[in-house]
Amino acid sequence: MARVVVTGGAGFLGSHLCDRLLDRGDEVVCIDNLVTGDLANVAHLRDNARFGFREHDVSNYIDVEGHVDAVLHFASPASPIDYLEMPIQTLKVGSLGTHNTLGLAKAKGATFFLASTSEVYGDPHEHPQQETYWGNVNPVGPRGVYDEAKRFAEAMTMAYHRYHGLDTRIVRIFNTYGPRMRPNDGRVVSNFIVQALRGDDLTVYGDGSQSRSFCFVDDEIRGLLALLDSDEHDPVNIGNPHEFTVAELAAIVIEIVDSSSSIVHRPLPVDDPTQRCPDISRARDLLGWTPEVQLREGIERTAAHIAGILAAS
Ligand code: UDP
Repeated sequence: MARVVVTGGAGFLGSHLCDRLLDRGDEVVCIDNLVTGDLANVAHLRDNARFGFREHDVSNYIDVEGHVDAVLHFASPASPIDYLEMPIQTLKVGSLGTHNTLGLAKAKGATFFLASTSEVYGDPHEHPQQETYWGNVNPVGPRGVYDEAKRFAEAMTMAYHRYHGLDTRIVRIFNTYGPRMRPNDGRVVSNFIVQALRGDDLTVYGDGSQSRSFCFVDDEIRGLLALLDSDEHDPVNIGNPHEFTVAELAAIVIEIVDSSSSIVHRPLPVDDPTQRCPDISRARDLLGWTPEVQLREGIERTAAHIAGILAAS
């Protein structure tokens, strides 16, 4: 049994991570400032003696009593609408927050795990993206606050690994979806499902020919834990390599929800990547990991969850 600190533990990915860590017998200290996280995501864990929650912004000094085996840094706004609304907080949690969580890991002799992102590849010129690709990022564009913060976080993590000998992991997470996404999260899967359930038009940005590769959250978390349990210090892509255009996704959501919705086009956001797909050879070879949940099944499960939230509100 390990004692694990999860920053952003009340968020979408963080809360699923807390669940799986507790399932395997670990003790979890969940830290979240609840800016985009939600206590409802961890409400079912409140009575678990191995779970503790701390409301705190990890861009400020973090104080954790006792021994810690691993620090998993998942705190950050992660939806484009969130990091456009909170650009400074996004930069701070990726830079100062990463520095503080690395410092905590170093002080405790713990393993450090960074939740990085496919956004480090920007609008990629290499397709699919291998971990060796350095990316095509606009540092001064509106998305730069997230992309550059995560690129800095990766550099800082490698510096602690090389200079301090810290045991570190870096995962590059590709588009992930599933239960506990906020209905108003702003990302394409949740937007389309909410719109389809309400019979509203689905808002396809641009002509819908841009692509993404969507990973169901259970697959993603299984990959993250396999990486945590490995001894791989270089970045590893964890995502689903099955690529869809946004227009294809819209059609699939309308079909699965059995919706009468139509499609409307809206302007493409600035610097919106035209294509994204992970090369997961490293995850396959090093971790024996591959995703299992097909998009249609995952959309069904996510739609059922979002329908429940909408019915209750
Ligand atoms: N998108 C869309 N309609 C929406 C929300 C998003 O067409 O209502 C598009 C967006 O422009 C992007 C893709 O869907 O091309 C994925 O967007 P998301 O915000 O989910 O994540 P990203 O991969 O851009 O970080």
